[in-house]
Amino acid sequence: MDRPQDNAPNSRLGLKNQATEVKKGGAEMKRLFPCFISRIQLDFLLKYRRWYPRSRAIGRVMDSPAAPSWLKTSIRAAQAVLGNTVMVRDCIQMKKCILWIGFGIFIVVSGCGTPARNTLFQTSTIDALLAGLYDGDISCRHLLKHGHFGIGTFNRLDGEMVVLEGTIYQVKGDGKVYKPDPNCKTPFAAMCYFNPEKTISINTNTDYKRLERLIDASAPNQNLFYAIRITGQFRSMKTRSVLAQKKPYPPLKEVTSNQPEFDMNNVFGTIVGFRCPPYVNGINVPGYHLHFISGDRTRGGHVLSFEMINGRCDVDILEKFFLRLPDTKDFAETDLSRDRNKELKDVERGE
Ligand SMILES: [Zn+2]
Repeated sequence: MDRPQDNAPNSRLGLKNQATEVKKGGAEMKRLFPCFISRIQLDFLLKYRRWYPRSRAIGRVMDSPAAPSWLKTSIRAAQAVLGNTVMVRDCIQMKKCILWIGFGIFIVVSGCGTPARNTLFQTSTIDALLAGLYDGDISCRHLLKHGHFGIGTFNRLDGEMVVLEGTIYQVKGDGKVYKPDPNCKTPFAAMCYFNPEKTISINTNTDYKRLERLIDASAPNQNLFYAIRITGQFRSMKTRSVLAQKKPYPPLKEVTSNQPEFDMNNVFGTIVGFRCPPYVNGINVPGYHLHFISGDRTRGGHVLSFEMINGRCDVDILEKFFLRLPDTKDFAETDLSRDRNKELKDVERGE
C-alpha cells in the first residue's frame, strides 16, 4: 500500500504540512467537503489521527455496497488530502466523536431549559382568580415542565388540582377524582420539583392548627416559600371543591359560598401544598394552602380541616419564585389594585 506520508506520519512537521494542504485545498476542499460536519471531521483527523492504529480495510470499505455513504465520503475526502494514510477507524471514530459532542450540546441546552431546584413556579395571581379570571391560558402538559408537585385549579374553575409524583389529579365538584387531558388548561397553579429537606414525624392526633405549629417550628423562616407533603392516616378529612362556572364568571367568594364539601373518615392519603410568605398578598396565599388526595386516588379536594392520626410531613425549602402572568385581554382589563385579603380568607378556609 502506498503511503506517501509515512516518513513523518506522527511528527508535528507532518501534521503541519497536512494542515497547509488543507488550507491550500480551496475549491477542491469545498467540493469534497460539502457540509460543515465533514470539514470538522477532517480537522479531527489531522489533529488526532496518530491516536488510532492503522487499518488496511480502506479498500474493502470503498468496494462494499453495504458500507454507509457518510463513511465513503469521509474516506474519499480525507484521502484527497492525507493520501492513503487515512484509516477507516479514524472516520468511524470521528463520526462517533461528533455524535457525542452533539449529544453533549443537547444535554447542556436542554438542561438550561429545566427550572432549577427549589423554585416555586406559579401561573397567574390569586387576586386574578378571586376577581373571576377562570379561563385557563396554559396547559397541564406545559405545567408539568415546571414541576411534578403542586396545586391549582382548572379552566372555568372546574375543580381542585393536586399534582403528585408528576400526575395531575382533578377533584371535581362531584367529589370524584379525574385525570385531566394534558391539553386541559389552568388559570392558576403553583408547581415545584419536590426534594424534601426536612421530615417531621407525626405520632399523635394532629389537626390543621397543630400541624401549622409543627411546621412553623421546623421551618422558622417565614420569608421563604415551602413545599409541604404530608402522608398518613387521617381520622377525619374535610375538603371542598368548586363547580365549573359559566360566563359571565362570578367572583370566587360567590362561587365558594355554595361550595360542595366532602367529609372523609379513616382515610389514608397525602396532603400537597405550600406555605407562602406574608408579603405575597395579592399574588399567592400567605400562609398555608393545602390540597388532599386519598391513597386510592378516588377522593380529595381543597383542605378545610382534618385530624391526623399518624404519618410524616416532608418539607422542601424553596428560595426561588418564578411568576408567569397571563397575556390575555381579561387579565389586562381586570382591576387588580384593590386589597382582596378579606375575600381570600373567606375563600381559603370556607368561612
Ligand atoms: Zn385550594
